[in-house]
Amino acid sequence: MNKPKRYTVTTALPYTNGPIHIGHLAGVYVPADIYVRYLRLTGNDVAFIGGSDEHGVPITIKAKNEGVSPQDIVDKYHAIIKKSFEDFGISYDNYSRTSAPIHHETASEFFKTLNEKGEFIEETTEQLFDEQANQFLADRFVTGTCPKCGNEEAYGDQCEKCGTSLNATDLINPKSALTGNVPTLKETKHWFLPLDRYEDFLKEWILVGHKKDWKPNVYGQVKSWIDDGLRPRAVTRDLDWGIPVPAEGGEGKVLYVWFDAPIGYISSTKEWAAREGKDWEAYWKDNDTKLVHFIGKDNIVFHCIIFPAMLKAEGSYILPDNVPANEFLNLEGNKLSTSKNWAVWLPEYLKEFPGQQDVLRYVLTANAPETKDNDFTWKDFQARNNNELVAIFGNFINRVVVLTNKYYEGVVPEPSEFEQVDEDTLATVKAYPDVIASSIERYRFREALNELMNLARLGNKYLADAEPWKVIKEDEERTKTIMYVALQIASALATLSEPFLPFTSEKLKSMLNVTSIGVETSWNDVSTNEVLLPAGHQIGKAELLFSKIEDETIQAQLDKLEASKKANEAANKAVEPQKDTITFEDFTKLDIRVGTILEAEKMPKAKKLLVLKVDTGIDVRTIVSGIAESFTPEEVVGKRVTVLVNLAPRALRGVESQGMILMTESADGKLVFVNPDDATVANGLQIS
Ligand SMILES: [Zn+2]
Repeated sequence: MNKPKRYTVTTALPYTNGPIHIGHLAGVYVPADIYVRYLRLTGNDVAFIGGSDEHGVPITIKAKNEGVSPQDIVDKYHAIIKKSFEDFGISYDNYSRTSAPIHHETASEFFKTLNEKGEFIEETTEQLFDEQANQFLADRFVTGTCPKCGNEEAYGDQCEKCGTSLNATDLINPKSALTGNVPTLKETKHWFLPLDRYEDFLKEWILVGHKKDWKPNVYGQVKSWIDDGLRPRAVTRDLDWGIPVPAEGGEGKVLYVWFDAPIGYISSTKEWAAREGKDWEAYWKDNDTKLVHFIGKDNIVFHCIIFPAMLKAEGSYILPDNVPANEFLNLEGNKLSTSKNWAVWLPEYLKEFPGQQDVLRYVLTANAPETKDNDFTWKDFQARNNNELVAIFGNFINRVVVLTNKYYEGVVPEPSEFEQVDEDTLATVKAYPDVIASSIERYRFREALNELMNLARLGNKYLADAEPWKVIKEDEERTKTIMYVALQIASALATLSEPFLPFTSEKLKSMLNVTSIGVETSWNDVSTNEVLLPAGHQIGKAELLFSKIEDETIQAQLDKLEASKKANEAANKAVEPQKDTITFEDFTKLDIRVGTILEAEKMPKAKKLLVLKVDTGIDVRTIVSGIAESFTPEEVVGKRVTVLVNLAPRALRGVESQGMILMTESADGKLVFVNPDDATVANGLQIS
């Protein structure tokens, strides 16, 4: 493609059944935002398009489980997700949602066009049906045994254990997720997109046409799908949540969520264009437009095979120029998981690290899963913040601004004669816009960020070598030149950091006072302008750009994850099998009473034991209890408890224990008292 006239950049539509976490940010949204901010800074016409994916079965199941409507679920999470994107500076031109009327209309029209052109196959097949719920069961509505690996909890669209993509009718011993009933088979009609008809087109377009410029992970996955042979794929579902099928016989059916979701990019563009008074069609139908989809690797098949086949079938749309999908980000060595709460949630991060969005953007980019799965660790997060952002970038800027204020009351000094090192340094700075741009344009954002940091390193080293704080004592003119050069580097950093660290860039620009008086520089100015910050320009006072993150802060995050891990282990713990049957007589031998703990102290030299004085209603007695790892003595005084009072006394570390307090365990492994549900139950009452 020649230089494009305009860009349409889309990001995978997040699914609105939960908030988003660092994996989403690292894989899709931060790289897309870097790309778009760079394009804007270099004067390009860009539409940055996103939105929420609000249809599909998991949302209806979540709604059912929570006793609310699907609309309630999507309203809640759409708002949370949209806010997270705003908070982290993801600079969408439009963020829409697939429940919006404009999307229903656009997707519906798209289907009708394909249907009228004869691009679908209509077929009546037998599908699983739940008689009691009076509903067909597809996708997540049905579970059963995976025919491939024997996993008993496979879903109707996929086995999560072995990753096999399934049809609901493939499952052995299928069970309805709605009622638990065994489903019956019932005939139903569906519309299929015959992907096999597009094999030659896809081979030519991707396998030949994009062999060199698409990422190997994306190219490889597409190739293996095509090599396996493509089959017709149903684009409709028997469901009542979604976009009704606009065709005869479509009653009670909706478009498959994966058919309607990518059309969401088009409807979101329409929404934006209408608001901004632009022509949306130029962004989707003009060959001079470059279309780029940012997605995670789980969406490759939809964006490289199914959606392009849909666009091709429609006939008037352009195809993506690139689909730079990322691999997955793991967290502390384990797969990110919503259901296991193994994640760093964005709203939570912001609460715990207020104002530090750029630190997360930085770490996720420096460690982005561009070519393989990567691991986010809190130690690495801390090290990158402290050793890179604070020690290099922040330190350089702070020195420049503090010294300029100290020596020249914040006015950029007039330089005298440049030495060779000054000339070389300024020439190197001028090369950075192209160096960074070349990495960004090839979707190598880690590399690009590293080059930005090399510019900060250059500044840091220049200042450390030139030592203006020493030179000022003997050569004031030389000091002015040094500070002038350092200020030019600081200004270049303010501009070139914007795609990566937008909040920091903003702060730095305001510190250098380049926003207010119209001396703000564009990306290319850094290469072409002789001067970025002219002599005589007044800058502002120093403000810390980054601050050191202490060990305790990191430990608190690790503790939180450890608690999640324990809770998961507890949830997965097998329930003990039932013990041998006892007679009623056996039971009546146990004398169990309600009591109250009156006093408690630690047993000397015993980690687990507390010595308690318990009012059993019969008497006040000493009981030694193994609860010291879960409770401090102060915490248990006054607690209502259940006591087995006729247990034979026994000596523990020389203290005679006269009974036993009944305990159980919480999900995170902490002991829990078993006590009466009503505070008025008197001590001494029997439990029977
Ligand atoms: Zn399986």
